[in-house]
Amino acid sequence: MQVTLDDYSQGAIFATELVNTSPRVWVIAGDMLSGPQALKTLLDNNNVHPDALVHDLVDGSDLEQVRALREAVREILDAPSPSDLVDLTRRALSTVPHHVELVQQEGRSWRWNAVPDNALSLADELALFIGYALLGTLRTLGFERFRPCSSPTCNGVFVDTSRGGRRRYCMPELCGNRINVANHRQRKQNLGDH
Ligand SMILES: [Zn+2]
Repeated sequence: MQVTLDDYSQGAIFATELVNTSPRVWVIAGDMLSGPQALKTLLDNNNVHPDALVHDLVDGSDLEQVRALREAVREILDAPSPSDLVDLTRRALSTVPHHVELVQQEGRSWRWNAVPDNALSLADELALFIGYALLGTLRTLGFERFRPCSSPTCNGVFVDTSRGGRRRYCMPELCGNRINVANHRQRKQNLGDH
């Protein structure tokens, strides 16, 4: 998988999807990374094809490591300031052996790529992919694109890579659903009655 420093949006979108699989985000659903197959589906749905999976399937240890990465990425998305965001990302990237290299694309333009120094585990490859995407988003779109979900029933966060930058929800089809919000209000009201 090529990690290109100029291209942040796919990695930022994947970072959002990954952190929002956590059981602390959509509490009723539980951990949406419930097993190796769920992780594989998340990668496929995001069109992410890591080199680590060319010859191997996702296994239990990959899953554990990606769950740990998910916590590290959540901490980055919750960073209270741009400099904290950069520091936390640098810390995550520093554990992945890699270097930055200028690479020519199929005989045409040149691009800065993050190139692994050796074969990486799935989690390390994803850390590289996500880390540079988050730095690229900060550099290009600014710190205000890292936001908590507006839904009162959701603990999610997201990176807004949309053109207008007016996204409000971490999982628009779930958190932006008025019925969910109405149900939550109703529940709160009922609790208040007793
Ligand atoms: Zn949400």
